[in-house]
Amino acid sequence: MLSADRAPKRTVLVLTLGGTIAMTRAASAPGVTPTLSGSDLVAAVPGLQSAAEVRVEDFRQMPGASLATGDIVDLVERLGRAERECLDGVVVTQGTDTLEETSYLTDLYYSGAMPVVFTGAMRNAASAGADGPANLLAAVQTAGSAEARGAGVLVVLGDEIHAARHVRKLHTTSPGAFGSPNTGPLGHVAEGSARFHRLPKPIGRLPLPTGALPQVEIVTASLGSSGTLLKGLENEVSGLVVAAFGVGHVPESWCSRLEALAAAMPVVLASRISAGPVLTSTYGFAGSESDLLARGLIGAGTLDPYKARLLLTALLAADTPRPEIARAFLDRS
Ligand code: ASP
Repeated sequence: MLSADRAPKRTVLVLTLGGTIAMTRAASAPGVTPTLSGSDLVAAVPGLQSAAEVRVEDFRQMPGASLATGDIVDLVERLGRAERECLDGVVVTQGTDTLEETSYLTDLYYSGAMPVVFTGAMRNAASAGADGPANLLAAVQTAGSAEARGAGVLVVLGDEIHAARHVRKLHTTSPGAFGSPNTGPLGHVAEGSARFHRLPKPIGRLPLPTGALPQVEIVTASLGSSGTLLKGLENEVSGLVVAAFGVGHVPESWCSRLEALAAAMPVVLASRISAGPVLTSTYGFAGSESDLLARGLIGAGTLDPYKARLLLTALLAADTPRPEIARAFLDRS
């Protein structure tokens, strides 16, 4: 085996999409905005060029909140080309606001073995203790690691390596904002190398859509809510995710509307709690998980409402029959 300093350097492409990691103050705006280019980001990271041969491409320059599913479809196409260009890995930098969703949607669609690692920053480039440079370095080191090949889409922040399918943003400002509450991290980055404790189980990928994705929305249960937002949804959306209380409960007054909606479209039952599964057969009252499943709703398992919405969207885009939608939620949570 070649020693690390004699091994050929890995080539890693950094695709930048904007976000806090690329934000600084400009005189024209009241706060920070995405202004830094990919070359600016890379230039700010000490030691990056000895970690890998880094290429950079400005892909989008926007806040995470303005990214849309279409941007991710374009990104997955770009990843396919990167694989054909024989790159060793790709790092995607973007806003942390939507990173748990964009990385998951990419994971649903990207079928290659080339490592793909998402990262961002909680502190902007002009602030004391900006975390962007360290996150970018750790992401490049992970994307260049042989163990990351075939591991699915990864998310690296705060020197932790997470699977896109499990990661959540858990704090609005902390530099340690990301975690995988159901599973813990897959590994850590230390002394310049990615160390995996375990790898996620392989999972089938969905076909990349050619047209616009179907509209799927989330309705959240809350104390005393009348469920008025459920009215007329049959005409507005192709699928619905319910972010229910606890293990999958809603007010009794929601039941008949949800049953009617589930007859018209797939309605997925997820939990608004950040960890743990929705149950299937523990409670038996009207509006309980067993009641809602008997009324035709589909359990999301441990998938949170945001990931459940993306999975349902991708399944509907692929014209998946209803029984297979239910099976996909079982297999993928
Ligand atoms: N606070 C966000 C971030 O960390 C802003 C965004 O998502 O663009 O990047």
